[in-house]
Amino acid sequence: AHSCIESIPELNNMVAGVQALGNIRVFCRCRPLSREESSNGCATVVDFDAAKDGDLGVLTGGSNKRTFKFDRVYTPKDGQVDVFADASPLVVSVLDGYNVCIFAYGQTGTGKTFTMEGPEHNRGVNYRTLEQLFSVARERSDAFTYNLSVSVLEVYNEQIRDLLATSPASKKLEIKQTSEGSHHVPGIVEAKVDNINDVWSVLQAGSNARAVGSNNVNEHSSRSHCILCIMVKTKNLMNGECTKSKLWLVDLAGSERLAKTDAQGERLKEAQNINKSLSALGDVIYALATKSSHIPYRNSKLTHLLQDSLGGDSKTLMFVQISPSEHDLSETLSSLNFATRVRGVELGHARKQI
Ligand code: ADP
Repeated sequence: AHSCIESIPELNNMVAGVQALGNIRVFCRCRPLSREESSNGCATVVDFDAAKDGDLGVLTGGSNKRTFKFDRVYTPKDGQVDVFADASPLVVSVLDGYNVCIFAYGQTGTGKTFTMEGPEHNRGVNYRTLEQLFSVARERSDAFTYNLSVSVLEVYNEQIRDLLATSPASKKLEIKQTSEGSHHVPGIVEAKVDNINDVWSVLQAGSNARAVGSNNVNEHSSRSHCILCIMVKTKNLMNGECTKSKLWLVDLAGSERLAKTDAQGERLKEAQNINKSLSALGDVIYALATKSSHIPYRNSKLTHLLQDSLGGDSKTLMFVQISPSEHDLSETLSSLNFATRVRGVELGHARKQI
């Protein structure tokens, strides 16, 4: 099976607008209440009664409940292994020549970095992906050779930074189009990785570089998009054919709306740039999901950078990360609305259940 769609057949008949969805999937993951929230007696506003069917309930006050539909819903009890089991067919499809993008979207503190990076003893999608790619590449070594390399980038205030560069770029990094029409950033480091140990040191180098030049690393990372790009060169040993494909793993900037009164100067600029790029991303995926004739890739650095891997026969997965806490209700609803729109199944496009 090449794709997530084939390997999760029930998804095919699941939702309104399923045809329009094509290669776009949205998985919702809710983090557990933190120790502090639990000890403060914080109430939970999410209900997972129908999580197995992809339904997430949100208690919006009084006896009101809204239900959101996703391709998968993970409860706080679901672990990294459960999440990766569903993402795995999608990531492996990069070895079949597909371009793939995986995003983690949500308010700061909802587990985007946990899902993508994960702690060292309980790694997330990024590391598991590379482990899986090496393992499948080994299994297929009679028929194919694969060369893997990785870049680690950050997009902050609409500027691209190469986190693997050993010296600061002398010029601004810009996205260029090749004569064949593909997009790339000339001059960025593409580190060849032959095994999982190589990967670990590259990821470490990337994360150390993120800290440079910022006095609060956590704050900085919540305001920038952190991007791991895995480039795959495949040679088919039977016919000598060579192909290239890319897999992007993106830990997005926090989606929270900063209180208008707080934001001034640099903060305001950051907030505007985050809003701009997250809404541009939402618009692109929505346009793809609804098969719009115009896909507005150029509205942000992020969508422009990922252009070759968003659309066509590329595959897209978005994790919408949420908090279970009553205190985060309005941000949770805002993230769930964003994710629902991205799936292209908002009212105007809803079709009858099949
Ligand atoms: P974000 O990247 O969205 O800002 P983090 O990944 O830093 O959020 O997560 C915030 C906190 O919640 C961290 O302490 C993280 O370990 C914890 N956390 C998030 N998701 C989970 C989860 N599914 N299981 C256990 N802990 C989680």
